[in-house]
Amino acid sequence: MHFSVTSRGDDTSNALRKKIIDYLQEFGLKLNDETPDIVITVGGDGTLLHAFHHFHERLDETSFVGIHTGHLGFYADWKPEEVEKLVIHIAKTPFQVVEYPLLEVVVRHHNGPQSDRYLALNECTVKTMEGSLVCNVDIKGEKFETFRGDGLCISTPSGSTAYNKALGGAILHPSLASMQLSEMASINNRVYRTVGSPLILPQHHTCLLKPLNDVEMQITIDHKSMIDQSVKSIQCRVAEEKVRFARFRPFTFWKRVKESFIGE
Ligand code: NAP
Repeated sequence: MHFSVTSRGDDTSNALRKKIIDYLQEFGLKLNDETPDIVITVGGDGTLLHAFHHFHERLDETSFVGIHTGHLGFYADWKPEEVEKLVIHIAKTPFQVVEYPLLEVVVRHHNGPQSDRYLALNECTVKTMEGSLVCNVDIKGEKFETFRGDGLCISTPSGSTAYNKALGGAILHPSLASMQLSEMASINNRVYRTVGSPLILPQHHTCLLKPLNDVEMQITIDHKSMIDQSVKSIQCRVAEEKVRFARFRPFTFWKRVKESFIGE
């Protein structure tokens, strides 16, 4: 089996990365940063997000597992002191794969036929560089509302515990192939009226955002951010692709939610 190990870059995570590489090589596994079967991330959820984007063209062949050197993560749920156990699991046992849904984002521009396609593990957010975002929101081909406010966030189920949660969105179990649209400070008056509640859309629905004001937009895909002058539309739906996590022991999603947000 071929493996790669990524690190958040701090001393603790770098030292643990080296230890894992040494252990796995002793077991006869091959270090391969181009085409790994398994990617072990050391750091936090942010480290796993970076690794996901680095290997996004190999999602069918690569599985991820995360170790947290800070607080417990949703993607990074192994503790540093469990590293020996994890390494033995990786080297000796065929692992179970759990697949989580992803978000497909297609950005179209006014000045050309070409579109840009992205995959998000957590979410896509749409804001403006100055002033408020004004945009029509179409759901499944029909106009739903005109939004005016700070921005909109469209998250995956596993991203629902990240930015979406801070916006008052619901926490969704990652087995639900769906996406969630949540508002950032919508302005509601006689002209602009939005539903005000987060919406959870199923796999076969599309959400299309069509900006109405001519302003520079800031679009984020997970930790990546881009500024765009001439956005015609941003189309979101549940992606065909999925992300694969290597599972070696039961650690349920709700247990992770409880340990992260409520405590013992
Ligand atoms: P960051 O600003 O350095 O860290 C954002 C925080 O979100 C970190 O504590 C990270 O955990 C945590 N996180 C990431 N994915 C998560 C998930 N699925 N569930 C629960 N917590 C999660 O940025 P970053 O590390 O590059 O991560 C980018 C993410 O930050 C975005 O995808 C977005 O979800 C999130 N974000 C949140 C807010 C907010 O809540 N107001 C605002 C902007 C961005 P670790 O410490 O384990 O890495």
